[in-house]
Amino acid sequence: MDDNKPGLKKGPPQVELPPAITVKQLADILKVEPIKVIKQLMRKGIMANVNQTIDFDTASITAADFGYDAKAAKERKASPSRKEKGKGKGKLPVRPPVVTVMGHVDHGKTTLLDVIRKTNVTAHEAGAITQHIGAYQALVNGREITFLDTPGHEAFTAMRARGTQVTDIVTLVVAADDGVMPQTVEAINHAKAAKVPIVVAINKIDKPDANPERVKQQLADLGLVIEEWGGDTVCVPISARQGQGISDLLENLFLVADILELKADPDSAAEGVIIEAKLDKTKGPLATLLVQKGTLKRGDVVVAGGAWGKIKAMFDDKGKQVHKAEPSTPVEVLGLNEVAKSGDHFIVLPDEHEARSIVEKQKYPRPRPTLSLSAFSSQISDGQIKELNIVLKTDVEGSIEPIKTSVERLGTEKTKARIIHTASGSITESDVLLAAASKGIIIGFNTPTSPGATQLANVEAVGIHHYDVIYKLIEDVDKTLKGLLEPTYAEVLSGRAEVRAIFPRGKLGKIAGVYVMEGKAWRDAQVKTLRQNKVICDSRISSLKRFKEDVAEVSAGLECGLGIEGFVDFQTGDIIEFYRRERID
Ligand code: GDP
Repeated sequence: MDDNKPGLKKGPPQVELPPAITVKQLADILKVEPIKVIKQLMRKGIMANVNQTIDFDTASITAADFGYDAKAAKERKASPSRKEKGKGKGKLPVRPPVVTVMGHVDHGKTTLLDVIRKTNVTAHEAGAITQHIGAYQALVNGREITFLDTPGHEAFTAMRARGTQVTDIVTLVVAADDGVMPQTVEAINHAKAAKVPIVVAINKIDKPDANPERVKQQLADLGLVIEEWGGDTVCVPISARQGQGISDLLENLFLVADILELKADPDSAAEGVIIEAKLDKTKGPLATLLVQKGTLKRGDVVVAGGAWGKIKAMFDDKGKQVHKAEPSTPVEVLGLNEVAKSGDHFIVLPDEHEARSIVEKQKYPRPRPTLSLSAFSSQISDGQIKELNIVLKTDVEGSIEPIKTSVERLGTEKTKARIIHTASGSITESDVLLAAASKGIIIGFNTPTSPGATQLANVEAVGIHHYDVIYKLIEDVDKTLKGLLEPTYAEVLSGRAEVRAIFPRGKLGKIAGVYVMEGKAWRDAQVKTLRQNKVICDSRISSLKRFKEDVAEVSAGLECGLGIEGFVDFQTGDIIEFYRRERID
C-alpha cells in the first residue's frame, strides 16, 4: 500500500519529497514512467529531462497530479536516526496536540485563549506571560498542549494553502446567545476540508439569554451532531470570561488527541512550520517556528522557503532562552538571513553549504498553472484525479440548495464533485484560500468576486468561474467530471501590418514585404490574412526577416519581410493581423 500513514485518516496516499529531486527519482517515488512526469511538467510549461532537478513545490504539485499528497521530507543523507523507519510509528513517543481556535467574531476566541494561557502557567512563569509569540504551550495536569495564537480560519487555511497543516484539533467557539453565524459555518467547512476533528466550545453560558440547546440544534443541522445526541462531536459548555468549563474543555481536547495517537520522533533532525516572522530593528529577522518532528537545537542550520541560517538563539513562548525544542513546541529563533514566510515549511540540514544551495534552487520561479474546470477536466480524463472540490457562492440563499443537489448528483462511478463550502454573498479571500488549500475551484452564481479575492486567486492559481444560468453551470461541471470540458481560448490581437510588396522565394514560395502599422509583428505569432475585411487565411508565421536577418519581432513603424505557413497568395493591400491564443478559464 502506498499510504505510509495507515489507520489515521483516509485521504490520498502520501509521499515524502526532499527539497530538490530529479525527474527520475520523482517518477520512481510516484511509481510511474518518467515520461509521464515529463509530460505532466510540460503541461505546466516546464521543459525538463529525466536527470533534471526540480524543486519541492514543482515536485509536490506534480505528485498531486498523480493523486498523491506530498509533504516535505527532511534530508536523509546525514540523518542519525532511522528510528521512525525501523521501528514504525507505534513505538514513537507521544507529542502534545496542536490546537487552533476558530469561530465567529466576538464569540470569545481571544478570551478563551487568554484564560487558558493565564490559568495554566506555572507560578515562576507568571510574570512573563504578557510576552508571547504566535503560539503557546499550556501545562494541564502534567501534560502539554499547544495553542496557535492566531484564532480564525483564514490563518489556518492560509497555511494549508501553502501546503502545511499544523493543527491537530480545531476548537470551535460558538456564543450561546448568538448561535451559529456565517463565520461559524465557514470555520466548520474549513476544518472539515482539512479533515481536522472539531471540538465545540459553547461559550458565554453565563449570559442570561444563553441558549446552548439552540446551538446544538443548529450544529446538528450542519452535520455536527454532538455526542449527547448520538453523534461523535465533543461539545463542552463554557464561560471563557468566568473561567467555567475550561478544564473540562482541555480534558476533552486531550481525549481527542489520544484517539488521534499523535506521535513524533524527537531524535531526528527537526522539521516544522514557520508560524510567524518579522524584522526586529535591533535583533534582525525573527521567526516563530513550530517543531513538528525531531528536536531543534541551537546551532542547527535551518532552511525555510527562501530564508536560511544558523540558529543563534532560541526563546520559548515565555521569552526564556532555550537550547532545544521538541515536537509540538513553538520557539522564536534568531539567525535566519531574511524574514521567512509564515506557513513555509522548515527543515534542518547538515551544513550551511547545502542549505545555501537548496535556497538557491527554491528561488527559481515556481510556475503554477491555474486550477480551472478545464484543467480538472484534462486531469480527470488522464485518470489523475477523482474528486472535484468546489466552493459555491451564490447571490441568494435560495440558489444554494438546487445547485448543490444537482452538482452532487453529477459524475461517473469514478469521479464526483464535492461541494466543500457554500454561502451567499460575493467571493472572498477566505473562499480563495479554502479552494487553494483543497486544490479545488470556485463557482460564483450571479455573484461578483471581491477585488482582493481576484488578486489572491491569481497568486494562488485558483480558477473562479462565474455563471448566471444554472443549466450552463451544471453542464460545465458535468463535462468536467467526464473529462470532456475543453479549455476556452480568446484571441488577443498584438499587431497589424499591411502588405506593400511581394517577392518570390524558392520554387513556389513567396515572401510579403509588409509595413507594421500598429503593435508588433513577432515570429511565433498566429496570423490572419485579411482582404477587404474578410479572413482569407488563418495560419502561423514561417519566417520573419529584416535586411535578410531573422528577427524575433518588429515594432510598429518598421518594415519587414514575412512568410506564412501554407500561404503564398499575397496581394498588396492585404492586412496581416498578429495574434495569440490565450486560455481564459
Ligand atoms: P473574539 O472576537 O472571538 O476573539 O471574541 P473576544 O474574545 O474578543 O470576545 C468578545 C466579547 O465577548 C468580549 O467583550 C468578551 O469579554 C466577551 N466574552 C468572551 N467570553 C465571554 C463569556 O464567556 N461570557 C461573557 N458574558 N462574555 C464573554
